[in-house]
Amino acid sequence: MRKLELALGERSYSILIGPRLLADGDAISSCLDSRRAVIVSNETVAPLYLERLAAPLRERGVSLVSIILPDGELHKNAETLGRIYDTLMAERCDRTTTLIALGGGVIGDLAGYAAATYQRGIPFIQVPTTLLSQVDSSVGGKTGINHPRGKNMIGAFWQPRLVLADTDTLATLPPRELSAGLAEVIKYGIIRDEPFFRWLEDHMDNLVAREAEALSYAIERSCANKAEVVAGDERETARDGGRALLNLGHTFGHAIEAGLGYGQWLHGEAVAAGTVMAAELSRRLGWLSATDLERIRQLLARAGLPISGPALGAARYLDLMGHDKKVLAGRLRLVLPKGIGTAVTWGEVPEAEIRAAIDACCH
Ligand code: NAD
Ligand code: MG
Repeated sequence: MRKLELALGERSYSILIGPRLLADGDAISSCLDSRRAVIVSNETVAPLYLERLAAPLRERGVSLVSIILPDGELHKNAETLGRIYDTLMAERCDRTTTLIALGGGVIGDLAGYAAATYQRGIPFIQVPTTLLSQVDSSVGGKTGINHPRGKNMIGAFWQPRLVLADTDTLATLPPRELSAGLAEVIKYGIIRDEPFFRWLEDHMDNLVAREAEALSYAIERSCANKAEVVAGDERETARDGGRALLNLGHTFGHAIEAGLGYGQWLHGEAVAAGTVMAAELSRRLGWLSATDLERIRQLLARAGLPISGPALGAARYLDLMGHDKKVLAGRLRLVLPKGIGTAVTWGEVPEAEIRAAIDACCH
């Protein structure tokens, strides 16, 4: 088992990564405030893993209630959130009850927001079961739901007490979901960890083959990178850099997701194509060599990800990018790699260059 700490003063917590973690009830049991916990999961994940998580906790005297929600981003909304509150109320849960999220990022965000708000905040534990949630969404404390007019528009920062990433759960993940998670893994290499990028070049085939050791290492490096970024900028208030750097490829990717209609491309797929656009833009600005651009394209492709975007037209992209929540005071601020292993946020890119980069990366 690998163990990391996210250093946030009194809100610090451990991230445990490795095989067979669900069956080890001690980690969770030892951070409960009382012998009561509520597991939130969905109709896909619960039949696979709920019992594996619940049995060792019951053996340790924990009384459990489970809430099984319908699967899908479509359900990350106020109505589903209401179902969680209803159960917490019906079961007379108090502030010592711990909410445990068992599932991907949708379940983590929903359960996390319920934990942040029920009785003004109750303890929360993340048990992420997708690669994306293990390397990204379960770490850092962003929780929330979608509004009919915008994704993740309602939410709160609420840090978990513990993150338990059991790599065995990845065995059942659909291949497209695995690749989508790899897009965020590769992102960490590009924005701040050149040795990790090289490691990924050497081990991408092992990751796609879901080899346990390779997966554990990649998750550990990803979480370590995210933890460092979050520790330095918990609430994304840094003027430059900070958490915003984690949005490499996301502004372009957001345009793809919104332009095609949410759910057509997975988020990670859109981020992959968006990362190529950002890298192409950096190349045009003289910040990235043609060789390094090609390395980025190759690595994403080997992860099973798209490296060009849908041909929506540059004007449509720009229009959709303008609606991104990362736009500060009307200026498009983009995350751009400077070589592999460093990135900057930059709000002064000439629009003509952005258009040219989009056109060069769409088919
Ligand atoms: P997801 O939660 O929808 O999971 C993807 C699919 O895989 C679902 O159908 C799910 O039921 C299924 N699944 C989960 N675990 C499985 C397993 N072990 N075996 C088989 N199937 C499994 O999607 P995701 O990619 O994990 O998360 C995306 C969500 O995360 C989005 O809502 C996004 O906004 C959010 N997110 C949040 C943050 C954050 O910082 N809070 C960061 C990134 C993404
Ligand atoms: Mg993302």
